[in-house]
Amino acid sequence: MLADQPAPERFDVEPVNSPKQRQPLYAARKKIFPRAVSGYFRRFKWLMMLVTLTIYYVTPWIRWDRGAYAPDQAVLIDLEHRRFFFFFIEIWPQEFYYVAGMLVMAGIGLFLVTSTVGRAWCGYACPQTVWVDLFLAVERFIDGDRNAQIKLDAAPFTATKAVKRIGKHTIWLAIGVLTGGAWIFYFADAPTLLSEVLTLQAPLVAYLTIAILTATTYTFGGLLREQVCTYMCPWPRIQGAMLDEHSLTVTYNDWRGEPRNRHAKKAISEGKPVGDCVDCNACVAVCPMGIDIRDGQQLECITCALCIDACDDVMTRLGHDRGLISYATLNDYNQNMELATGGTGTIQPGRIRTAAGKLVDKIKHTDFRSVVRPRTIVYFVGWSAIGLAMLTVLALRTPLQVNVLHDRNPVFVTLKDGSVRNGYDVKILNMTPNPRIVAVTLEGLPGGSMSLPDSRGKASQAIAIELEPDKVLPLRLYVHADPGELDSAKTRFQIKVTSVDGLTAIADVNFEAPETQQGKAK
Ligand code: SF4
Ligand code: SF4
Repeated sequence: MLADQPAPERFDVEPVNSPKQRQPLYAARKKIFPRAVSGYFRRFKWLMMLVTLTIYYVTPWIRWDRGAYAPDQAVLIDLEHRRFFFFFIEIWPQEFYYVAGMLVMAGIGLFLVTSTVGRAWCGYACPQTVWVDLFLAVERFIDGDRNAQIKLDAAPFTATKAVKRIGKHTIWLAIGVLTGGAWIFYFADAPTLLSEVLTLQAPLVAYLTIAILTATTYTFGGLLREQVCTYMCPWPRIQGAMLDEHSLTVTYNDWRGEPRNRHAKKAISEGKPVGDCVDCNACVAVCPMGIDIRDGQQLECITCALCIDACDDVMTRLGHDRGLISYATLNDYNQNMELATGGTGTIQPGRIRTAAGKLVDKIKHTDFRSVVRPRTIVYFVGWSAIGLAMLTVLALRTPLQVNVLHDRNPVFVTLKDGSVRNGYDVKILNMTPNPRIVAVTLEGLPGGSMSLPDSRGKASQAIAIELEPDKVLPLRLYVHADPGELDSAKTRFQIKVTSVDGLTAIADVNFEAPETQQGKAK
């Protein structure tokens, strides 16, 4: 009976991850030898490199006078005393919300920048980009430009090659040491730590930090380079969700460049359609990621815009309009593509040029006004609102604070003389780098008085205390009152701390007494 049944249908399908189709997750690195280029974006990148490296290396050495009791360093992460100094701002651990606010601002700022000008962070300001650019400049200085580098790489290992290799890697390592060295100065007084490091008296963790950062800087900047962006950094994946059709990004305008031709004059004389791209590969040769922007938007593209400089140079030399590769929005690109194809799907150069060879007026040119749109406005307003809120809180912040915790068990004690005593744990925070004299007083507690554990029961209306600079003073405080003078078993009153220089900190607390005794004396 089984033999009579027809064979089951076989579907023409193949698993997407079959060994035949499976792509390797990692491709071995192919050496890239980016050619030097000059132009507007290259100059901007040099400027960004100068600014970012200067900020990084110089910041710990900026001095800021905080008096005799605090380090005179403008930016300092003082892990030992759990303080963060930033010029006139001093942040304590319980004020970590400032740091959280700054992180949220950095996140929204990244959203704002990416939605307007794409991966500008990757192209100009990311430490990986900046340090790779620096390492490439060293490589070019020692080995020469692209062609010389390729030649040297293929050459047998001679004494000249050995000297160049040793020289290049030594400078790279020196940059790594300086990078790690600069980092540790953010965590201690820089001049003191420098002399300790040089005299081998610094803590072990300082040397370990320099060693680790030297190794990572050398490996990421000199050896892995573009591999870090392609395989290690999550940002290229995240940015896809932030771009939209109005975001500016580096674009090859194939509506103008295609059909590309190395021999344009000959093709034109033969009546063939020819675009502006002369297929010179200059844009590929300068790319630090080693990719071809003419293949469209790619995850590897860090939008450094060096291909724009390279192509603009070629277009200028050929007497064409610049901007064959340019910053453009997808929206404008699509409109121009529609114009160039006329809906046929084939680019027709004659549709975008006049008889005189000029680009027609209908072409949509992207300008930087496209950055102002509802989405970017929302990001900007959110970013500014958080910044303003933080500035307001900072401006209203008082550097003298008091926190009070009422005893839970027992909430009160009745003394021999019939008065009632409540105990409190008080913390007075002097958040300035100077000592302070303060007076602790009570307000709103009829007949109330205070004593400290060493007052031997002697209560007073005010207690004077000296606060150490930049310290928290824990205090055990007893408050006494006659329950006959109180209106209820629970009285809300204030513990007030006033400094001689006029600062005031107030804590609202309860005074508790037995239920039955209130008002007896009245
Ligand atoms: S394709 Fe152009 S913008 Fe993208 S990484 Fe290469 S040179 Fe930079
Ligand atoms: S540099 Fe310009 S002209 Fe040369 S290949 Fe690239 S896009 Fe074409």
